[in-house]
Amino acid sequence: MVDWLEILKECSETVRETVLPLLKAPQNQPSHGKGAGGDTTHQIDLVAENAIINTIKQYNIAFTLISEEIGIRKFGKKPEYYVTTDPIDGTTNALRGIPFVATSIAVSRNPSLQSVETALVTDLYHNKIYTAQKNQGAYKNNKKITTSDATRLETAVVGVDFNTYKTTQHINTITALLQNTKHPRHLGADALEICYVADGTSDAFVDLRGKLRVTDMAAAMLILIEAGGVITTPDGQKLDAQLSPTQKVSFIAAGNETMHRRIKDLIVKCSRTIS
Ligand SMILES: [Mg+2]
Repeated sequence: MVDWLEILKECSETVRETVLPLLKAPQNQPSHGKGAGGDTTHQIDLVAENAIINTIKQYNIAFTLISEEIGIRKFGKKPEYYVTTDPIDGTTNALRGIPFVATSIAVSRNPSLQSVETALVTDLYHNKIYTAQKNQGAYKNNKKITTSDATRLETAVVGVDFNTYKTTQHINTITALLQNTKHPRHLGADALEICYVADGTSDAFVDLRGKLRVTDMAAAMLILIEAGGVITTPDGQKLDAQLSPTQKVSFIAAGNETMHRRIKDLIVKCSRTIS
């Protein structure tokens, strides 16, 4: 039996050791073309990805890596496990010195979101480690976490990703959400923002753009669910998707059913008005 949780924690440590010098000198990083996920790869992304690969390889485990940078790559013979990672979530924050940057790693036996069994998201600046195993709860620095029981949007803190917002397609729904939320936030590393919902720091996180890669949120999704949160598609359907570097999703993540329903109803009502 492979103890993936321990392996992922070791990955988290090696990533942190290798990227800390880069976080301290944020702007001196050459870019390395585009990664498999389509964004520009920077040195910090490659260094973090290599740290993860080299750590897992030490355990002689065969695995298929699904990563934002190098794409899909098999290591060893007949891999049973899929390791889905966004080595650095929040690269722009890292390059600007904004202290909100994460490493995200999810392990599964099938390449689908719902199959994720072990998950880790590390807040690299603050060394907070969020972990979860299926049906075994979610933890931050080894302490059990639970979501918030807030149900009123009027006083809620709600993360909304409106990054690279170039289409008008969802502008009305996002505007409706912003108008009805007292404290909207966008912090720039979605894996970590979902973990904020998981530990009750915020009350919900919504991404309607259809631009967020599964590599960015696969780990955080399990952490949220294990902490008692709810995550679905924007119209309330079960959220599942193929794990691949280019697969993208939209979703509503909330601390509890009531908060989730309030946001979903608002979005569904608004989409009807537009169409
Ligand atoms: Mg990334």
